[in-house]
Amino acid sequence: MGRRKTPMRKCLACQEMKPKKDLVRVVHRPDGGVQVDPGGKVSGRGAYVCPRPACLEKVLKGKLLDRALGRELPPEVRERLALGAEGSPRD
Ligand SMILES: [Zn+2]
Repeated sequence: MGRRKTPMRKCLACQEMKPKKDLVRVVHRPDGGVQVDPGGKVSGRGAYVCPRPACLEKVLKGKLLDRALGRELPPEVRERLALGAEGSPRD
């Protein structure tokens, strides 16, 4: 038995370690695309940020995700992050 250890990841903005499921994952796919990955299942180079306005704003303004992923964020990803947690569509 025994519980599995919760995977922790660091938010790019506030540098806090949080459970992976509580963070927004943005992934740079092997095909070069960049997307928000709510399920955490897309393979590629991922970066994490808290779904709270202060952190989202900081990563967008400071281009922290762009730097972490080694690629400029596409406008649709920036928009999606700018909407924050409350705007996340159920798709
Ligand atoms: Zn944060």
